[in-house]
Amino acid sequence: MVFLLFILGACFGSFLGVVIYRLPRKLPAGLSSSKCEECGKRIQWYDNIPVLSYIILKGRCRFCKARIPIRYPLIELTTGIIFVFTFYQFGVCIRTLSFLILFLFLLAISFIDLDTNRIPDVLTLSGMIIGFGLSFWTITWFRSIIGIATGIGLLYIFAIVGKWVLKQDAMGGGDIKLLGMIGSFLGPIGVLLTLFFGAVIGLVVSVPMKRRKVPFGPFLSAGAFIYAFWGEKLIKFIWNFNF
Ligand SMILES: [Zn+2]
Repeated sequence: MVFLLFILGACFGSFLGVVIYRLPRKLPAGLSSSKCEECGKRIQWYDNIPVLSYIILKGRCRFCKARIPIRYPLIELTTGIIFVFTFYQFGVCIRTLSFLILFLFLLAISFIDLDTNRIPDVLTLSGMIIGFGLSFWTITWFRSIIGIATGIGLLYIFAIVGKWVLKQDAMGGGDIKLLGMIGSFLGPIGVLLTLFFGAVIGLVVSVPMKRRKVPFGPFLSAGAFIYAFWGEKLIKFIWNFNF
């Protein structure tokens, strides 16, 4: 069972790798078979088995021996592990489905944001609609709407204040829509804690790097991931804590 879940996740990871590569380049992200980025030769199905093919081919193209970027097997490995953990944490239910879809969107968005410093609206807006659709069976449509409004509203205010204080764009429009999308899946409390976790991780990671412009998307994504897995436990812990 663990193995099957891992394979299923890794296959989605394989598709994610394609989306991350093709979407910012405006290439069709359909099911047309992948080509080697170097020599352009079609990659056959037996060379396209998640994780395994990378190991068998020793990380190189079968034809031109160009290096296959390590990120492909890493993304496949990550989604495989995420699928296993999510199913074991939440069981077979619509909430698991909702979280898995959210995580796939967050992974694609994080990598594209790291690559290009942009977050495509196609992803955040379609994710928002799917999150809202699923909320009827998970957090209720009302919480979803409030979640979207909280996410967009909060970061919009941050963007205005940031621009006023720092005299430069502190927050991109992509980040604003991303937190709205996260809100559609996780609701308003999810948004608040996602932003909190994301900001903490962002500070810890970006301060030593001393880079002026660090994409915020991956940190927000990490925050949402932490909330999805441990948010409820944390809220219960604080609620029952004797101050
Ligand atoms: Zn090649």
